[in-house]
Amino acid sequence: MLTTGRCRFCGRDETPGQHRAPGPICAACVEAGLAIVRDGEARTSAGDTTLLRLLPDAEATCDHCGRHERLTFLGFRRPLARVSCPELESVICEPCLDAAGDLINKTVRES
Ligand SMILES: [Zn+2]
Ligand SMILES: [Zn+2]
Repeated sequence: MLTTGRCRFCGRDETPGQHRAPGPICAACVEAGLAIVRDGEARTSAGDTTLLRLLPDAEATCDHCGRHERLTFLGFRRPLARVSCPELESVICEPCLDAAGDLINKTVRES
């Protein structure tokens, strides 16, 4: 299910033909978010907001799954990589970014 509305990370309104995942987060922000998780470099979104990676000990939870850490199978708590937009006060974790990316890819392929 894709959600419509303003992207919570760049603040841009939806334009026809644009796909976005629940959050809502647009494809451009999913892509930027995944790159930020990989290299830790802050980026400016297509809507001129700042996207940055949170420090591992930050307690901000993901807007989507409500988590900020995960349990490994040995029972250790590992912080989740999270990307935040400070201007819009939104946070998304790496697994949710991955899921959003998969969803957008799938929808693009099916349409
Ligand atoms: Zn966006
Ligand atoms: Zn999440």
